[in-house]
Amino acid sequence: MSKHVVVLGAGYAGLQAALEARRMLTAEAARITVVNRVPYHQLITELHLPAAGAVEDRHVQLPLDRLLGKKNIDLWIGEVTAIRPDDHAVDLSGGTTLSYDYLVVALGSETEYFGIPGLRENSFTLKSVDDANRIRAHVERCLESYRQTKDRADATFVVGGGGLTGIELVGELADAMPGWCARLGIDRGDVRLFCVEAMPTILPGFPEDLVARARQSLEERGVTFLTGQPVVQMDDGIVHLKNGDQIETRTMIWTGGVRGHSLVANSGLAVERRGRALINEYLQSTSHKDVFVIGDSAVWMGPDGRPFPPTAQLAGQMGAHVGQQLYACIKGGSLEPFEPHLAGTLASLGRRDAIGMVGEKKRRVRGRIAAWLKTGSKLRWLADIGGLFVRA
Ligand code: NAD
Repeated sequence: MSKHVVVLGAGYAGLQAALEARRMLTAEAARITVVNRVPYHQLITELHLPAAGAVEDRHVQLPLDRLLGKKNIDLWIGEVTAIRPDDHAVDLSGGTTLSYDYLVVALGSETEYFGIPGLRENSFTLKSVDDANRIRAHVERCLESYRQTKDRADATFVVGGGGLTGIELVGELADAMPGWCARLGIDRGDVRLFCVEAMPTILPGFPEDLVARARQSLEERGVTFLTGQPVVQMDDGIVHLKNGDQIETRTMIWTGGVRGHSLVANSGLAVERRGRALINEYLQSTSHKDVFVIGDSAVWMGPDGRPFPPTAQLAGQMGAHVGQQLYACIKGGSLEPFEPHLAGTLASLGRRDAIGMVGEKKRRVRGRIAAWLKTGSKLRWLADIGGLFVRA
């Protein structure tokens, strides 16, 4: 009898899991349903581009009906409201319930605010195309307002967090600023663009020379770094730093960290303290073997006993692996342990610059070569999901 596989989330992990499962399993063997909040697969790693107006939405979101439609995968667009692993069921908005034989949870992560007072209420995040559009529209509104009022807070922009998300965003904003200012007749020198980082350096985990290279490249384009300065409070219009300094601004974009998805944390699946699911070497929940949890929703431990950074690359590989494990579960066969093969990390520093570490030896790359490699990795992903010629 045909089994029902339900995949929650059509990000890097969920989309790849559904596609790989379909490649391996006939429609008679398994019905596959993908549930996603929006009708698009969003290229989350590229969101800094629309946030700064560098590309249109269609470059970062691919319609799911076109990616999945001809593949005999059912699509349900809406919210997941509860995961009930003990009942083998998930609840969806509008009162729908789906029962499953196998569940793949790939709902991504949520923003971590670390309990900082006022931060959630008074900041932007960059986790969806809608978020990116909100940021771009807000920045343009602030600059327009500054032109009329000359209120300094309108021309002051703060990115909270100097990890990869914060750095890629601040780089893109730095490159967009001269164009915005020229259009509105504002002096670029009037605009302040801050990146506030709690740790002594930006890009924690990157080698010193690449961090220095990134910092210099961004400073030359007008970014001011405040490092070793945790944000401790955020009011409407004021960022408070630990040393007592205050920055008056109408724009705080918070990229200070991620935590597991609250639906997963509240589901009854085994989770760790940041709400990410605990999984075994086959990517099954340690508490429920018919549930696979992948991507940012789970925590994958590296050989050194520390969690792997939750990247798109890891998520896509987990997705492909789960597709194959579903074949073993449904058609019979033994499960294979997951072995990630990470090709490196690349961080863009605006339109023409980037840094990264690639290959097993973590060879350092910088400048245009790194930027091309980053574009190459996006194209490889699009080719992988059949999305090279799919546009909204
Ligand atoms: P992150 O956790 O990697 O970085 C957040 C940064 O915010 C850290 O440097 C942290 O010290 C800082 N921070 C935390 N609290 C703060 C405070 N109170 N005040 C000031 N700074 C504070 O988060 P991220 O950058 O969103 O990345 C999330 C994950 O996604 C990471 O694993 C990252 O590797 C991955 N990612 C990868 C890419 C890429 O490969 N190009 C791009 C974006 C994100």
